[in-house]
Amino acid sequence: MNKQQEFALQAVEENDIHFIRLWFADVLGQLKSVAIAPGELEDALEEGIGFDGSAIEGLTRVSEDDMLVRPDASTFQILPLPGGDHSTARMFCDILTPEGEPSMGDSRHVLRAALDKAKGQGFSFYCHPEIEFYLFEHQTDWTQPPVPIDEGGYFDQVPRSSSMDFRRAAVGQLEQLGIPVEFSHHEAGPGQNEIDLRHTDALSAADNVMTFRTIVKEISLDRGIYASFMPKPLVDQPGSGMHTHLSLFEGDSNAFYAAGEEFSMSQTARQFTAGILYHAQEITAVMNQFVNSYKRLWGGAEAPSYVCWGHNNRSALLRVPQYKPGKINSARVEFRALDPTCNPYLAYALLLASGLDGIDKQLELEDPTDDDVWELTDAERQAMGIKPLPGSLDSALKQMEKSEFVASVLGEHVFEYFLRNKHAEWAQYRQQVTQYELTRYLPRL
Ligand code: GLU
Ligand code: MG
Ligand code: MG
Repeated sequence: MNKQQEFALQAVEENDIHFIRLWFADVLGQLKSVAIAPGELEDALEEGIGFDGSAIEGLTRVSEDDMLVRPDASTFQILPLPGGDHSTARMFCDILTPEGEPSMGDSRHVLRAALDKAKGQGFSFYCHPEIEFYLFEHQTDWTQPPVPIDEGGYFDQVPRSSSMDFRRAAVGQLEQLGIPVEFSHHEAGPGQNEIDLRHTDALSAADNVMTFRTIVKEISLDRGIYASFMPKPLVDQPGSGMHTHLSLFEGDSNAFYAAGEEFSMSQTARQFTAGILYHAQEITAVMNQFVNSYKRLWGGAEAPSYVCWGHNNRSALLRVPQYKPGKINSARVEFRALDPTCNPYLAYALLLASGLDGIDKQLELEDPTDDDVWELTDAERQAMGIKPLPGSLDSALKQMEKSEFVASVLGEHVFEYFLRNKHAEWAQYRQQVTQYELTRYLPRL
């Protein structure tokens, strides 16, 4: 038993915890949970708890049904349940085979492996996610368009607004769970909100995204409304992204900072950024994993559609913010394509590996793009060497399936499972006859 495991056992006893929820993610980043009684915890921490992995998306091949979940004691937190109920705690888990090896379908393991590789090169990887979502009126008929709970816009201070109230409740609960929040505000769309989590190591950041999505959904249901992370729920309004600010540290020092250089970017930051641009097209399917994700990417409203970087350029895929140019620890790059429905473990693993590959290959970073790339013509973009992001899930999958790089970062098992699952989603989608087609073609054709 290590110190953290002893602490978790003690905390269960001192706080009279009755249920311990063991959390993990499937390959698509959906949260899974199994509750154990306090008496089982010691065994779970030491050896893991058995479950049938075959029922979980992407976890096993048929021959490997028996799996173990072993809680990571450093993630122990008491859940703030309604009515001041403190009887339940949660821990994120690693998934193991019966032989005690990491399961090849465990996305947390995929991220850990990428982080270990970075560590071998002397780097730790930090992420700061900015999570956008819509708040809609309670809904049960999903054939109807959703109705936002307010008419607010960017940074609006809406008097007595339920959005503000909602954000206060969410921030309070996140902080109780040890997840510090940096900002929260109304976003540009009606009923759209954003909450930004403080930067932390990538594994904790990915765990935090998983917790965030659950907490926000729960709070909305408690209030009789509906929170949605769907990337583009409303045709004429901005989509919801999960921009993530990225930085590498060497020990205590930010490896992205260099005084006196353009945008205070070090050589490491430039090569890392170049690496993400280099791999951008083949990693997009994981950053934006649903059919609907591409309606956001190709819907304007500050979501990126082209592979380029810039400083004051919100149409770029990567942006180098300069809020506090001289402040060493605030040096970072913002990756803007991600949406909040991604599997954060796989997404952060691929971003890190892409950046590190840029460092390994010593890639040169092209000049930044200052123009709004949306406003340029195709010919102008081509002349500037600016490639598009994939325009649909189908074309993103076509880029991914030929990528040895993505296969090596995700591992063959996750890579193949992901592609199979997503090809099936695309096949189902392309058979649909949509409302758009009916209203456009039936009166004419
Ligand atoms: N909602 C925009 C997106 O989908 C981002 C707006 C912003 O810059 O925060 O990426
Ligand atoms: Mg925003
Ligand atoms: Mg942003």
